[in-house]
Formats: sequence, structure tokens, C-alpha cells
Amino acid sequence: MGIDISNLVREDIRDFVPYDPHIYENVIKMDANENPYPFPDEILQEIYKRVKERGITRYPDPVAKKLRVELAKYTGVLPEQIIVGNGSDELIQLLLQVFGGPGTQSLIPYPTFSMYAIHTRITGGTPAGIPMQDDFSLPMEELLRGVERPENKVTFLCTPNNPTGNTIPVSQVEEVLQKAKGIVVADEAYLEFYNRETSTSLLKKYNNLAIIRTFSKAFALAGLRVGYMLASVEIIREMMKLKQPYNVNAFSQEAAVTVLKHRDAFKPQVDLIIAERERMYEALKAISGIKVYPSGSNYLMFRTEKSGPEVHHALIEKGVLIRNLHGGPGLDNCLRVTMGKKEENDIFLEKLKEII
Ligand SMILES: *Cc1c(COP(=O)(O)O)cnc(C)c1O
Repeated sequence: MGIDISNLVREDIRDFVPYDPHIYENVIKMDANENPYPFPDEILQEIYKRVKERGITRYPDPVAKKLRVELAKYTGVLPEQIIVGNGSDELIQLLLQVFGGPGTQSLIPYPTFSMYAIHTRITGGTPAGIPMQDDFSLPMEELLRGVERPENKVTFLCTPNNPTGNTIPVSQVEEVLQKAKGIVVADEAYLEFYNRETSTSLLKKYNNLAIIRTFSKAFALAGLRVGYMLASVEIIREMMKLKQPYNVNAFSQEAAVTVLKHRDAFKPQVDLIIAERERMYEALKAISGIKVYPSGSNYLMFRTEKSGPEVHHALIEKGVLIRNLHGGPGLDNCLRVTMGKKEENDIFLEKLKEII
């Protein structure tokens, strides 16, 4: 009936499939790297109060001025060096709309966050993957050769890396910046769980560096979609030109401002998550048939001798949902578990031991 719509679709994206988060009922959710603790009620009440005072009838601030001022205090850069997005996913796409596109490539050491390749393709560019080394450290020689080539407009470095958990030393980020002819992204979505090494200080020296951060993980606002980027004034100015005017809604802006003002309240949660990660690392290491990888993040990746998909499925049957990574490049029989509350982690360990 009617016109063949699929034939009208851009040829280069016809094979896309919609993101399917697989909703399961009555499971402990340890699959999406969210903060497992209840959101502090006093802070939630303050958010409601601020939203009530502001009202929702008027459009949000298109430049998120208040939030950028708070973020400047938190990160130590100028407000002019910050852009806020509807989740950092939006900013990854926006960066590629500005600097990528047909005829360009994104350099992507893998395995890593799938959104870099997806947004590269959505914006008409070509993802150029480079396999990481066996311990998931960066393939520096190949990477340094790659970033010198002018067609490689954007290079994505994720640290701590999702899903493997390992971190990239700032000195390596700088080595890449020294050679790069294009933009270098350092995705620090999980920085708060690894508060030792941020590339922020490199912003003073390199105007082609873009750092991605988010409120979705440590700051427990995944449901409100707020991410931000730190970069040179020039990069931010270019991105502001293409940004949708009202990309971050008023509720989310108020929530992010409030959370930043009370950021100390999240520190004990983050400390608990880090302590649990260390405990779980040792516990997983002690299980034979499992190889667990070190992590600077709020999740751990491990490889099973048994079939990964079968272990994943058996865990769901026992009421625990984690992420199945099998099928991804270099991720045979790999699974990723997000740190839950202590009791949840214990249930996960118990069920996993039953299965293995
Ligand atoms: C979760 C995550 C983000 C943040 O995504 P939002 O869109 O801000 O929720 C960014 N990068 C990586 C690697 C992530 O895992």
C-alpha cells in the first residue's frame, strides 16, 4: 500500500535496528551503569521547589547559563568552555554533525561504547575501528599513525572505558593530542569513580580536545538526560551554532544545578560503589571459570569459560539482570555487571556461583 517508505530511507542507514533495552520485570537491575541508591529525598524536594518557582510555561534557557556557571565551579574551566546536552549522547552526535559527515572517518579503538560508531554513521561518516591490545590498553602505534591522517576528523578515547573498565593514562591522551590533526574526544562519563586522572588540565594546551561528562552515572540523574562537554571556546562556539535551541528542558536544568550544589551528598554513595567494586573484583577473581578485568568505573567486565549468553540467561531466570557483551568485537563470552547495593551484589555473586 502507498509508497515504499523503506526505499526512501537514506541508503547508508537502511540496515539500522532500533535500540532495544529488553525490559524484564522483577529483576535486580545491574545492566545499565546507573546509581543503585535511592535519590536523596531532601535534594529531590529542593528540585521540585525550584521547578515550581520557575514554572514550566516558558521555554528553557537555551544556553543553560546557571548550570554552566555551576559546572565551571565544579570542573575549573570557564562557562564559555562548556556546552550542555540532552544526555551526553546528544553531544556526541552534535560534535560529529559539526566536524564529521560524509567523506570523514572517526577513529575508534574498540571494544568501546557503541554510540561513537552509531552517531558517526548517522551523521554520514565512516567509523574506523582499531582493535585494542589484549589487555584493552590503547594500540598506540597504530593510533598515532591514524590521528595524523586528515580524513580522521574525530578520535574517541573512553576512560574509564565502557565496557572493559580499564583507564587511559592522561599522558597517553596527550601523546594522541600532540599528533592529532582532528578533534580528540576523552569520554570521562565515569570520572567520579576514578577521580584521579582527568584530562581537564590539557584543555589549556590543546584546543582540539573535547571532554565528555554526564549526570547519568555518579549523580543519579539518568532519567533526566543531562550531559556536558568541556572544550576550547572555539569548539563550543561551533557546536552552539548547530545545537537545537531548547535541547535541555527546564526541569533537567534545575535538577542538575541542584545536584551540583549538593554534590557532597553523592560522595558517600560513590565511595560505597568504589568499595563494592573492589570487593566484587576479588570475589569474582576467586571463582574458577571466570576471568575478571580491573575497572576504574562502577561496573566490572568478566569472561566466562561457560557460554556467556547462557550464563546471562540463567542469571535472568534467577532474577538478576546484567549486560551480555557476547557478539561484540573481542568480547566473546564477556558480561558486564553494574555495582548494585551490597545486598544486591551478594545475591548476584550467589546466583552466579550456582550457575558456574
Ligand atoms: C553512560 C555513558 C555516557 C553518558 O550517556 P548519557 O547520554 O549522558 O546518559 C557517555 N559515555 C559513556 C561511555 C557511557 O557509558
